[in-house]
Amino acid sequence: MNLEKSAAAFEKAKKIMPGGVNSPVRSYSSVDCSPPFISRAQGSKIFDIDGNKYIDYVGSWGPAILGHAHPRIVEALQKAVERGTSFGAPTELETELAELVQKFYPSMQVMRMVNSGTEATMSAIRLARGFTGRDKILKFSGCYHGHSDSLLVKAGSGAATFGEPSSPGVTRGTSQDTIVLPYNGIKEVEKFFAERGEEIAAVIVEPVAGNMGLVPPKKKFLPTLRQVTEKYNSLLIFDEVMCGFRVAPGGVQKKYKIIPDLTCLGKVIGGGLPCAAYGGREEIMRNVSPDGKIYQAGTLSGNPLAMTAGIETLKILLKDTSLTEKLIKKTAKLVEGLKIKAELANVEVQIQQAGSMFSIFFNPKRVKNFEDAASSNQESFKKWFVAMLERGIYLPPSQFETIFVSTEHSDDDFAKTLEAAEAAFLKL
Ligand SMILES: *Cc1c(COP(=O)(O)O)cnc(C)c1O
Repeated sequence: MNLEKSAAAFEKAKKIMPGGVNSPVRSYSSVDCSPPFISRAQGSKIFDIDGNKYIDYVGSWGPAILGHAHPRIVEALQKAVERGTSFGAPTELETELAELVQKFYPSMQVMRMVNSGTEATMSAIRLARGFTGRDKILKFSGCYHGHSDSLLVKAGSGAATFGEPSSPGVTRGTSQDTIVLPYNGIKEVEKFFAERGEEIAAVIVEPVAGNMGLVPPKKKFLPTLRQVTEKYNSLLIFDEVMCGFRVAPGGVQKKYKIIPDLTCLGKVIGGGLPCAAYGGREEIMRNVSPDGKIYQAGTLSGNPLAMTAGIETLKILLKDTSLTEKLIKKTAKLVEGLKIKAELANVEVQIQQAGSMFSIFFNPKRVKNFEDAASSNQESFKKWFVAMLERGIYLPPSQFETIFVSTEHSDDDFAKTLEAAEAAFLKL
């Protein structure tokens, strides 16, 4: 595989942007190779500027649930572009997308559109603090909720240690208001709430975690979170920015029958354009400005292009829920195939799946939290990743990321993927 043009483009980009990229994981620094520079994508395929063609399992990190450049979305966007790209004024499109979102997520009685998942979670946290009059929030290590200061705090060593800033630039004061516990740490959560529950404004969680690789919740984890937050009048925030629309139609809350106070969505709801949302119980959401005093705004929020792409995506998913079901079944089939290939090559892996997301941990043990994930073999992953890329399979360049399957992936794509996987596993 020739990546000459990409390598040259990368050198040029590195001169003017940190790491040559606008979001760190794209730099491939964790896999010691230089990233393909993309020229276009169509359906399940992505093409780089050197003319290589790959089967894409990144899907723009989740949004591309219907594959790339879906003809209906492209057509709707072309028409929308001609009407103007941003007005900074209300449009009917915003209500239309909100109503569609609510069909999937009835718990979002009132919602607000924003431009990124980061904004959604940051705003939900501010709202929870304003609503409860409390400062502290609880999150779980290995869960990513965007890059706002409060949420960039990683786990301390002890269960309920107050965080050290995990990114320089996050103030000590801010990190002291974020408490971090292990994902799936049911006992830790119960103990913490028994001692200090009354200080907690909100618990924020990826109800199916996808940012330490795919880690599903233990059976009692989400019910425990619901129970303790209710008991101590804290809010429960489900960050379904990644798992929303992918784990099941109606998301994790429908599948697991746990209703949070607030929900954050992103990725899929923008159909590939910058769009996210936060919403929940009306009594809480009415505190957002101008109905209430908690301020949150956005020049491009609800912009007509993002609304259009989101509307078309959700309309397609809503019209035929079997589309999502088929996608999930198809993903399970691919996962089964990969497990067999790993076994044949005598490579110990954990392939963990939820809906149309899965990940491969080079680990002999099932992964239940970040500590488990971090104990996975990085060298094996790196080798396997590069061998897959060379065979035209485009995967997330880290085993702490999730692999995404789209409705456009075909049996032929899967056959090619499995053939490549077999060869790649045998190289280890
Ligand atoms: C991607 C992601 C975010 C952040 O969304 P951005 O649009 O990248 O700001 C937040 N939460 C979760 C669970 C995510 O996967």
